[in-house]
Amino acid sequence: MNCIFCKIIAGEIPANLLVDNNDLVAFPDLNPQAPTHILIVPKRHVENAAELAEVQPSALAELFKAAKKLSVDLNLPGYRTVFNTGEAAGQSVFNAHLHLLGGRAFGWPPG
Ligand code: 5GP
Repeated sequence: MNCIFCKIIAGEIPANLLVDNNDLVAFPDLNPQAPTHILIVPKRHVENAAELAEVQPSALAELFKAAKKLSVDLNLPGYRTVFNTGEAAGQSVFNAHLHLLGGRAFGWPPG
């Protein structure tokens, strides 16, 4: 499968794994959009968050639990979590992943 995040999970592409457990991995985004920008990726390959909710809802919860733990470990007073779903919304890697962003102020509505 030609999936860049599956290759990171398999160790074929290097990444600084901040979390690596049965359910997921977390690693810094290559092109950070905030001082803290971490990708939290389920180990089961699915295309997007909605598909993960269908096939393994508990894994979706694990992504948010990992985001909370990372925010505590990194002393983030607040953070933003984002799923881009579909090319029109900015998704570029079609393997579900939660963006964890922190370390700066965030505008609303988001860009
Ligand atoms: P999306 O646009 O699909 O919501 O997010 C994909 C994210 O993956 C982007 O923010 C992009 O910078 C990041 N990314 C793409 N390729 C790599 C890679 O090889 N390593 C890491 N660490 N991040 C990547």
